[in-house]
Amino acid sequence: MRSILDLQRDELRGLVGLFADIDETISTRGKIQPEAFEALWRLHRAGVKVVPVTGRAAGWCDHIARFWPVDAVVGENGGFYFFHDGKKLHRRFLYSEEERAGFRRRLGQVRERIASEVRGCGIASDQLYREYDLAVDFCEDVAPLPRDQVLRIVDIFHEAGARARVSSIHVNGWYGDFDKLSSSLLCARELLGVDLEQNPRAFGFCGDSPNDEPMFAFFPLSFGVANITPFLDLIERKPAFVTTKESGEGFVEVVDRILVARALRD
Ligand SMILES: [Mg+2]
Repeated sequence: MRSILDLQRDELRGLVGLFADIDETISTRGKIQPEAFEALWRLHRAGVKVVPVTGRAAGWCDHIARFWPVDAVVGENGGFYFFHDGKKLHRRFLYSEEERAGFRRRLGQVRERIASEVRGCGIASDQLYREYDLAVDFCEDVAPLPRDQVLRIVDIFHEAGARARVSSIHVNGWYGDFDKLSSSLLCARELLGVDLEQNPRAFGFCGDSPNDEPMFAFFPLSFGVANITPFLDLIERKPAFVTTKESGEGFVEVVDRILVARALRD
């Protein structure tokens, strides 16, 4: 990993958009500070495509796609992307309604097993608004769980044949062949007309935790905000750059550099 202070303006030459995780990347200790939300607006107004990529629920993403200055939002770790075209909301799911209902039934059994085997975890308060995944809370509305218990939750998902990822607050588990990266690439190609397989430097990515690893692995311009440090031993493919500040302030550091490079280029 390099410090963001070593990032050269030239490296941002071909960048047209930014994917960003939300929790503890755009938000700071659970709140979006004005500077971070303003940074989204600054990108938007400068014509940089902005797409949050999150493990958060479909219900949240409906709101984000409608109300935030973004081009789209990838949610539930890649189960869909939503966007608003100025008139109406569009919801692009990777699996049909029937398939999603089947996934949720199977996750109901996993949920019972986790509840009986891991003491002290909870179910995320936004579970009702999810289309695909089961979000097990280990840090948001419950007392923080020890690391080995968090990893036990991951193991239970895997034993049940589900995928699982650890964010800063939840373990998300799901059925279906997708992750944050696969759906971000799909969104860029289908909606934004950018083939990132051909041109991975067209977008940057900013994140903070192990569920962002597929994104860190793919994007040459990947940024970890400074609070990623305690999770680094859980991440094999680390971000290319790390910011000097944590959470939303780190996100603003990334945005500032993108916009300075863009202003000097134009
Ligand atoms: Mg996060």
